[in-house]
Amino acid sequence: MPNPELGYMHIGLDDTDSTRQGCTTYIAALLAEKLEKMGAKFLDYPNLIRLNPNVPWKTRGNGALCLRIQYSPDVEEEIKETTIELVEANSDLAWKGTDPGIVFLKTQTIPIDLTAFAKAATTTIVTLKQALDLIKKHHAEALGYNTQRGIIGATAAIGETLQQDHTFELIAYRKPENIGTKRKVDIESIFQMDQKLQPYTFNNVDTEKNRVIITPRGPDPILFGIRGETAETVKQAFSMVKLLESVERWMIFRSNQGTDAHLTHVKNLSDLQPYSSVIAKGTVSQNPHIVPLRHVVFAIKDDMAEVDCAAYEPTGALRKIARELQIGDTIAVYGAVKKSTKTKPLTINLEKIRVIHLAPATQLQNPVCPDCGKHLKSMGKNQGFRCEICKKRYPTAAKSEVAVERELEPGLYVTSTRSQRHLTKPLRRYGLEKQHPTVGNLIENWHS
Ligand SMILES: [Zn+2]
Repeated sequence: MPNPELGYMHIGLDDTDSTRQGCTTYIAALLAEKLEKMGAKFLDYPNLIRLNPNVPWKTRGNGALCLRIQYSPDVEEEIKETTIELVEANSDLAWKGTDPGIVFLKTQTIPIDLTAFAKAATTTIVTLKQALDLIKKHHAEALGYNTQRGIIGATAAIGETLQQDHTFELIAYRKPENIGTKRKVDIESIFQMDQKLQPYTFNNVDTEKNRVIITPRGPDPILFGIRGETAETVKQAFSMVKLLESVERWMIFRSNQGTDAHLTHVKNLSDLQPYSSVIAKGTVSQNPHIVPLRHVVFAIKDDMAEVDCAAYEPTGALRKIARELQIGDTIAVYGAVKKSTKTKPLTINLEKIRVIHLAPATQLQNPVCPDCGKHLKSMGKNQGFRCEICKKRYPTAAKSEVAVERELEPGLYVTSTRSQRHLTKPLRRYGLEKQHPTVGNLIENWHS
């Protein structure tokens, strides 16, 4: 039960890492341990919030963190100092583009305009000024480094309380001396875990390439992260993975990963905005063609506008589906809206395609010989046809349209696991979406 004598605090963190070192989730894990030692009670798992993946200045996952606690007011200063020390000690401050932000908010419930800001930061572009205005309004405290851009994500992470669909991730961290070396885990045990716990864990393996994808590649401290529907499941999954190097620590996060939180339905193709991610309906208006690097491009249109859609080579299975589309098909496309330099002003980079209705496909066929039933042979343009068997000529015969079967069925198609964004809801999660929060129901031992 909440203790009225204790204070409430939400600590938001963002943008401490670079491509060469660090990970904000690791700082959150270090901080959680120190906060517990100071007697803090966690009101929720640390939240790992993925923000708009199309923000032009972000090349990595764009994830921010929030820790929500109750604490004794006499350790308030110690909590803030510890947070700041940890961020300063573990951020790559010398790296251009690493702009850490820390935000402290001391309210029990999250103001509704902060929640709205979080939604906007997940789906569109928000500004530092908007974040700072909210911080001032709600008497929060913010600390920013370099350009201070991390304050945006730190504020948004506090605002996103994951009241509806959400998932969990257990992240295991490496011993500092192993960072930068090849990750050592038993691959076979990960495939077995995936088999045993499906559909309740997801994005463990890429079945197209027969490859494990829970282990990142960079020089960051993460050994692997296992994503799933509940804290219990990801913990069980962790126990099934055979480790071949020691884990320094592990922690379970609650997250908007795998929920499609970045996607917004747009009614008209004329409403598309660059840097957003959308679900948009239209009719295929230009047949797919393959452009260099094996990307597939086609166009869709509605009454208002026409837009290019691109399935890039790494989308794998989705690219194969895109290739089978044809003019007249009704589809919904899911993906990021990019400014384009090619035939249309905007391009949707596809994450998913829902095939709603397939146009009938026809092929022109040569007429059949009335005598022997064989297909006639053309004698050239406007020259008529001739039967190769009977040798008879049919100067006025014409080709006829014949229905052919489509190599495609209506349904939802998703980009290959290896090219899914953190926020993309994988096929495995359809039907498992949650409508209610699980805040306050921490399992025992949710971190090491
Ligand atoms: Zn014939």
